[in-house]
Amino acid sequence: MREFICITCPTGCHLTVEGSGDEAKVSGNECKRGEAFARAELTCPTRTICSTVRTAFGHAPMLPVRTDREVPKDCIPAVMRLIANVLVKEPIACGETVIPLDPVCEGTLIATSNLLVR
Ligand code: SF4
Repeated sequence: MREFICITCPTGCHLTVEGSGDEAKVSGNECKRGEAFARAELTCPTRTICSTVRTAFGHAPMLPVRTDREVPKDCIPAVMRLIANVLVKEPIACGETVIPLDPVCEGTLIATSNLLVR
């Protein structure tokens, strides 16, 4: 038996999974999204990464960013190492690409703020 907390919505249902593979039985979910979440956790868990990167701008030395998609949990340490080495030197608007993630996984890191755009 495995237990998870569904993070798909703020309700945070406590999920229980009995069995494995296609035969796994999920309980505790208030909607079908919880079952999909539990099955993904068993096979290929993913997360959206939210963080900040350094900038060269004195008025906004840190810029909020996130991955443009969910990435495999196994990739999170490598993505965080990429993020730690970023220094934004040009104004970037909310939604624009900060860096591609393709050295590590599919997707891009995008800005989630207009702090650098005046
Ligand atoms: S199972 Fe449904 S209601 Fe419960 S946390 Fe997940 S998405 Fe929300």
